[in-house]
Amino acid sequence: MYKKQTDIIRTQIERSQFLEHSTPLYLTSSFVFEDAEDMRASFSEEKERNIYSRFTNPNTSEFVEKVCKMEGAEDGFAFATGMAAVFSTFAALLNSGDHIVSAQSVFGSTHTLFTKYFPKWNIETSYFKINEVDTIERLITPKTKILYAETPTNPAVDILDLELLGAIAKKHNLILIIDNCFATPYLQQPIKFGADLVIHSATKLIDGQGRVLGGATVGRADLIREIYLFSRNTGPALSPFNAWVLSKSLETLAVRVDRHCENALRIAQFLENHDKVNWVKYPFLKSHPQYEIAKKQMKLGGSIVAFEIKGGITNGRRFLDAIKLCSLSANLGDTRTIVTHPASTTHSKLSEEDRLEVNITDGLVRISVGLEDVEDILNDLDQALL
Ligand SMILES: *Cc1c(COP(=O)(O)O)cnc(C)c1O
Repeated sequence: MYKKQTDIIRTQIERSQFLEHSTPLYLTSSFVFEDAEDMRASFSEEKERNIYSRFTNPNTSEFVEKVCKMEGAEDGFAFATGMAAVFSTFAALLNSGDHIVSAQSVFGSTHTLFTKYFPKWNIETSYFKINEVDTIERLITPKTKILYAETPTNPAVDILDLELLGAIAKKHNLILIIDNCFATPYLQQPIKFGADLVIHSATKLIDGQGRVLGGATVGRADLIREIYLFSRNTGPALSPFNAWVLSKSLETLAVRVDRHCENALRIAQFLENHDKVNWVKYPFLKSHPQYEIAKKQMKLGGSIVAFEIKGGITNGRRFLDAIKLCSLSANLGDTRTIVTHPASTTHSKLSEEDRLEVNITDGLVRISVGLEDVEDILNDLDQALL
């Protein structure tokens, strides 16, 4: 039996002589051994202990353990970025010739991995449209190994039914992987609905303060074992310093996300009644097309609001130029409200037709709602919509 990543911590973080309340920062690249026998037993994994920070480190293990507890996962591994988590997870589990079935609307760099890099290793991906989940089973072939999705989606805030995805994965014996970055484990735990692995970009709401990059994959211990072995040899590990920051961030996740969601709902309701707005999408608005599914699988509606401004690209850009309090940035899940116009920025390289396939219309504006006083955000949006 191999050791679990998360078992290593408590044996390692014994209280130091200073009895500090916060976890100390273990900035060390390697760890020393008592003697030759200790070294042998450690390398053969008979002993649970830290060897080298590319494998494990007390700070990264603490972070992983917390994410596992929140997600209801058996084990996990922490990465330098969310994309390192995505890439390493797939690379560890797939062989040449394997096939992925993925939601069409996934994070941009994940999509690039699927379309540009994985085909180099003879790994192909088929996509299902968010609004056509009944097509998923038709895409599955004997070579399909992984079913992959994000919910809520970026930037259109569509919702996928996790219970349905869990049932399909089980029926066809696929590994279901969910990128849970938008919801956070506080709002949604995909493992409850049948996910085998959950991926996070900790850069977003887990840090939530725009300071560090990080990522994690948590879930079934047997799969994590493969991901751990791949990662310990290829080197995408999270730095101890970032792990230390992120561990502390998790302690405020619930209060931050509560406030993000409270502000986001108010903003969604405000925009829904605004005459310069065609429509608003927010999972916990009754008008959201997948409102019932959102209610079933999410505790609150999340921090992202999407709306369509009247007047397409021209007015979308004019709106961004008029924004004062909110920031124009590519990030999301920050204490500060961020506004983006995908059609003229992140998704401008796609044709209009391809954008519409993932529900990105020319007037779509995405707001990552922050922790400011909600009246200040509402005033800023209102003056910019004039
Ligand atoms: C940002 C993001 C990622 C990538 O995370 P990085 O930490 O930027 O590498 C992956 N998935 C989703 C849904 C994201 O929003």
